[in-house]
Amino acid sequence: MRSWTGIFLVCVLSACLAPSPSTWPGAAGPSVSQLVPGLALMVPVAGVLPEQVPDNFYAPRGGGRIHEATDIPAPRGTPVVSADDGHLLRIGRNRHGGNIIYATDPSGRFIYYYAHLEAFAAGLTPGQPVRRGDVLGTVGTTGNASAGHPHLHFQLMLRPSDGSIHGGRPLDARPYFVYPGRANQAWASIW
Ligand SMILES: [Zn+2]
Repeated sequence: MRSWTGIFLVCVLSACLAPSPSTWPGAAGPSVSQLVPGLALMVPVAGVLPEQVPDNFYAPRGGGRIHEATDIPAPRGTPVVSADDGHLLRIGRNRHGGNIIYATDPSGRFIYYYAHLEAFAAGLTPGQPVRRGDVLGTVGTTGNASAGHPHLHFQLMLRPSDGSIHGGRPLDARPYFVYPGRANQAWASIW
């Protein structure tokens, strides 16, 4: 009986909650149902509940692309918090993402990408361990986000087998948000 329950759950995860593999270019590699069990993320914006996260992973973008990430609107200055335990990989800036952070989970299987941050929390360094809920910065509009629409652009990716932080397969993070966004620190005091 137990095994049938397990099979059922795998079917639910792969068929209903996760994107169809056929939508991913180059979808070779482990299936989502093999990798996702145990992945439980915090909504990476303080004060936002899982059920409030909008569904925009498949939203069209320019050039025939799709978004392949989750935009979470919030007032400018709202704390951005770590979605998971793990460690930081890169803190920096790029043209589209503005102020960005790459992080990974404790197993190194996933990449978490946070973009458009208004400001970084003080003292962030690559390699630094983080706990779920640690404040990483604040919501803003840096990069190509429109000034009137502050939001966090959050992307969950399977980390490539070569360990790169780029080129991972994007997964829709929404099914894995189980914890409401909540800051571990009194964020006003960490800048
Ligand atoms: Zn976005």
